[in-house]
Amino acid sequence: MSAGPIGGGRGGRGGRGGSGTQGAFGRAGGAGKRGRKSKKQRRQEFDQMEAPTIGGVRIRSGNGETIRLRRGASLTDLAEKIGVEPASLVQVLFNLGEMVNATQSVADETLQVLGAELNYDIEVVSPEDEDRELLSSFGVTFGENVGDEEDLEPRPPVVTVMGHVDHGKTKLLDAIRHTNVVAKEAGGITQAIGAYQVETEVDGRPRKITFIDTPGHEAFTAMRARGAKSTDIAVLVVAADDGVMPQTIEALNHARAADVPIVVAVNKMDKPEADPTKVRGQLSEYGLMPEEYGGDSMFVDVSAVTRLGLDELLEAIVLTADASLDLRANPDMPAEGVAIEAHLDKGRGPVATVLVHRGTLRTGDSIVAGSAHGRVRALINDKGENVDSAPPSMPVQVLGLTSVPGAGDNFLVVDDDRMARQIADKRQALQRAALLARTTKRRSLEDLFKEMEAGEKQELNLILKGDSAGAVEALEDSLLQIQVDDEVSLRVIDRGVGAITETNVMLAAASDAVIIGFNVRPQGKATQLADAEGVDIRYYSVIYAAIDDVEAALKGMLKPIFEEKTQGTAEIREVFRSSKFGNIAGCLVMSGHIRRNAKARLVRDGVVVAETSINSLRREKDDVTDVREGYECGITLHHYNDIQVGDVIETYEMVEKPRD
Ligand code: GDP
Repeated sequence: MSAGPIGGGRGGRGGRGGSGTQGAFGRAGGAGKRGRKSKKQRRQEFDQMEAPTIGGVRIRSGNGETIRLRRGASLTDLAEKIGVEPASLVQVLFNLGEMVNATQSVADETLQVLGAELNYDIEVVSPEDEDRELLSSFGVTFGENVGDEEDLEPRPPVVTVMGHVDHGKTKLLDAIRHTNVVAKEAGGITQAIGAYQVETEVDGRPRKITFIDTPGHEAFTAMRARGAKSTDIAVLVVAADDGVMPQTIEALNHARAADVPIVVAVNKMDKPEADPTKVRGQLSEYGLMPEEYGGDSMFVDVSAVTRLGLDELLEAIVLTADASLDLRANPDMPAEGVAIEAHLDKGRGPVATVLVHRGTLRTGDSIVAGSAHGRVRALINDKGENVDSAPPSMPVQVLGLTSVPGAGDNFLVVDDDRMARQIADKRQALQRAALLARTTKRRSLEDLFKEMEAGEKQELNLILKGDSAGAVEALEDSLLQIQVDDEVSLRVIDRGVGAITETNVMLAAASDAVIIGFNVRPQGKATQLADAEGVDIRYYSVIYAAIDDVEAALKGMLKPIFEEKTQGTAEIREVFRSSKFGNIAGCLVMSGHIRRNAKARLVRDGVVVAETSINSLRREKDDVTDVREGYECGITLHHYNDIQVGDVIETYEMVEKPRD
């Protein structure tokens, strides 16, 4: 134990109650229940206690108290909070069958399992909660209208078009956009910014509708997965000549999961083989009952080619919104909403299309979008015109951000640039931690050895960075389609738009990944960091070149060859039955040495009866890590109890064999 001075409960300089990596969360949560005891006090108490062991490790058990941990926390973070040595947590986890080092980010479930084992209630704080807490520490709220009922004004519905491939989503979005009177008056100049707004007349009143211009439920769900509710109504496109197809149902399920009302556009009505009645029948079976059959979903027959029924479709959207949604927002508050698209423009820098949910976005506003920040230099609408402001539901391109936010990131306007930068910085740090947690692959001992034995599963981790979201997606799609044998697999662990940052390099270093830069270059100290960390960064400007290289890398990946090396054998001379530990084998080590945690086989009459590992190893009453030939010891086997006198325990390790 440490030779430090005894007494002096204050902890002095060394007392690290709730500091270090825990940040703001060190103070919150259940720690208060116990009152603040220094780590040293707790350790002293523990030393005086009976020696409880958990999972073979002498460690203090919690009493069900709640420990709050950030997603992505490490064993060191947890150890700090509960006043134990990180190494003992590593050991407990190891005995539970998982290998994790002390500083590595640990997956949620692992923290929970470990917590349960130690009798703590681990509360993992989600990124959303964390973000809310972060914002509120700046005195900022998000996601609510400020003010009273009377401050709320109607806002246009935001629509996503979904459906099976080739049923006409893109064509329909184009057709609607060009039918739009407002666009025609403006000379028909339109600019693809990822969303557009059209105007229609319902009951003699002009009504606006916002369409998100990236069809498909993948984008919709990707945004939803990030906690961004970007859509009020889903238009489900079904080709009348083809009927309900697998992705139609998928889209339907996605919309339902998001609790979004659905309007059905029965498309391709110009085709002679169109059968709109069949489509209605099919969808009714899935619980989407047309109004004309007494249900509550509106079905509209359309043709994106002849433009039949487009006005009716727009009307149906407005009516559905009026009937089932209360779309109101306060336009007089600092704007907030969601970024639906973003890329790096060569001339203009980062460009993000945002959809205002509430408030009004104005040029000159200080803004945070995800972990990007800046001041709004210009706002450009869907017709390519500069505008001064954007009210709720109006999509606009924002210029002036310092980096590219992700699609689905929320944005909000804050008091000043300084606050914007601080929030962005904090978010970046949180993201980094969360990302590391996500990419920490849970790997059980069993898995590891299985992989090693079979020499199977080699994984190539990639981080993709490109100059636009489209390029990155295309690259990812093509890379994931590369066919090689099952033994090597490819995993894209992170992707993004913009320069290669130090954060990217750090993630690559942490997860043994290669970075692929498509038309982008490193930023700041990223190159130096990559050199220092031994991270491979490759630059491409042609997708095929990248694919070729990756394919070659996958095919050429050399699997290390492992072979088994016997460590020792021990014969069971006696079996002790313990209610606490199960059956303990009293052994004599016959050859070599026996190590704790070693991979082991139980051999009975020359037959292997179990594949297991050495769970605990004792000499007399002491836990030991190693017992040599000629000595006696007590052994328990991992998950194996059926031992008999005369059995032989054989331990071995897998060692890498050099290639020649
Ligand atoms: P998406 O995959 O759902 O986006 O489908 P697209 O919009 O790309 O359309 C797929 C094909 O169907 C294209 O060849 C379109 O020209 C065609 N198409 C789309 N809508 C109609 C329509 O109303 N009538 C006819 N005849 N063809 C259509």
